[in-house]
Amino acid sequence: MTARCPHERILTGARAAVRADADYVLYWMTSARRTAWNWSLDRAVEWCVELNRPLLVFEPLRAGYPWACARHSAFVVDGMLDNAAAFRTAGIAYYPYVEPTHGAGRGLLEALAAHACVVVADDYPHFFLPRMLEAAEARSGVRMERVDSNGVHPMRATSDRAFATAASFRRELQRTLWPRLRSRPSSEPLAASVARGAVVPGHVLARWPAADPRRGADAIVATTDVPETPARASMRGGRVAGLARLDAFVSTDLVRYDTDRNEVDGSAASGLSPYLHFGHIAGAEVVARVLDTNAVDLRAPAAPATGSRAGWWSAPPGAEAFLDQVVTWRELGFNRCVASEGRNDTFESLPDWARATLERHAVDERPVRYELGDLERSATDDPLWNAAQRQLATEGVMHNYLRMLWAKRILEWAPHPATAVEWAFELNDRYALDGRDPNSVTGITWAFGRYDRPWGPERPIFGTIRYMSSANTYRKLDVREYLRRYGPPVDPLPLFAPRG
Ligand SMILES: Cc1cc2nc3c(=O)[nH]c(=O)nc-3n(C[C@H](O)[C@H](O)[C@H](O)COP(=O)(O)OP(=O)(O)OC[C@H]3O[C@@H](n4cnc5c(N)ncnc54)[C@H](O)[C@@H]3O)c2cc1C
Repeated sequence: MTARCPHERILTGARAAVRADADYVLYWMTSARRTAWNWSLDRAVEWCVELNRPLLVFEPLRAGYPWACARHSAFVVDGMLDNAAAFRTAGIAYYPYVEPTHGAGRGLLEALAAHACVVVADDYPHFFLPRMLEAAEARSGVRMERVDSNGVHPMRATSDRAFATAASFRRELQRTLWPRLRSRPSSEPLAASVARGAVVPGHVLARWPAADPRRGADAIVATTDVPETPARASMRGGRVAGLARLDAFVSTDLVRYDTDRNEVDGSAASGLSPYLHFGHIAGAEVVARVLDTNAVDLRAPAAPATGSRAGWWSAPPGAEAFLDQVVTWRELGFNRCVASEGRNDTFESLPDWARATLERHAVDERPVRYELGDLERSATDDPLWNAAQRQLATEGVMHNYLRMLWAKRILEWAPHPATAVEWAFELNDRYALDGRDPNSVTGITWAFGRYDRPWGPERPIFGTIRYMSSANTYRKLDVREYLRRYGPPVDPLPLFAPRG
């Protein structure tokens, strides 16, 4: 029922003492927003058992986070409704708080922590969360632990090294991952036999009323002052929707993932990234499902640790290809965010060779220039790019292959490569449901050279950064239906004839 959280996943900040006789163990849920497959929840349950105190789960949502909007807030609140139902069934106290205006929730964590034996928090290495966690630790008068529930590789196990390539990170995983794959967070932590009956102090509830799940997500979000746009996307958030998507993917698309992931129509991609981003499902749970479905032998890797992409899981090609994305590529971003000093989402953070070649070509003439607003309005002369941006703006998602092309074209249109990096993050993190994530850092900076190598021939603007163009994409992929769906009737005809 319960799983013992590995010590390598626990980071204890300021060494304040545990207060064994306080009212409850507090789990402050901020990124692993789920009720199972969650090391933080397992760790909180461990403390409940050890101290014989009940559990209180506190899940807040701010109003003033960067790029706050109805789209992202509604996705989070969808998840809160699922969590409320699961905790209610289990008889575990759950306190969802949705901040109505920026700053209204200030002091709430401290007020709850004042009655806590110990605070367990989610460890997350990107967005405003590291700063928030550090500030909370500094102010906490009780022991606070950060727990890493992000992936199958404990991110702090390699925090002394930012891997420069996927192959070098994969080699590390091939050497060390197997015993860790066998240790899984609990799939049913709420069934643990821990004391029930934690109560949110009355004066806390009076000042910071809990969100009422019966009102529904949209009504709850409407009571906040987050901007109404980008508006809610059609994709529902929450654990229930995330698990349904995982089921559908594993039963139908996983088997053809290696061949059809890049298809724009009928893509075999999982669509799981928003659920992974908001923590509604766990990377570990997705991996476990794929391994178990394919009866992968977890005693040892199938191949020596060479860093090579295929063959180490001893799974069918679809599963091998998917595991490489959801483990190697996804967790490479967590490694980058936790291991590198300072920011890793800027032009300055790119590898030396990439910066140098982009700087050298920064003076090249840009035949076509746009402002950020033109891009935001999908008002470029490239119909495919406009369609991709329109999909992002309306649905909050974009196909992976087009995402690569999308970022590369921004480089051609922005006045300087550093501005292109800024614009790509601005558009991605404002509109994408899965934005503001370590993977946003991986994906966008990859387009500008990180984790890649120089490619010839040297070209204007790109230098030796890997080149992609809409013309080549038309040749490679059938985008006719995509253009029909996301291209407005007034769009000019494509510059290059679509395939077929
Ligand atoms: C310019 C650009 C920006 C990107 N921004 C984001 C972002 O904000 N958030 C985000 O989660 N991903 C981002 N990616 C990576 C990738 O595009 C998405 O993870 C993927 O398209 C999500 O769709 P999916 O869940 O169907 O992926 P699937 O193909 O089903 O893959 C499963 C999971 O593996 C991981 N994954 C897949 N591809 C990559 C990749 N290239 N890099 C890192 N992890 C990967 C994701 O967690 C994904 O959910 C970006 C890529 C590019 C080129």
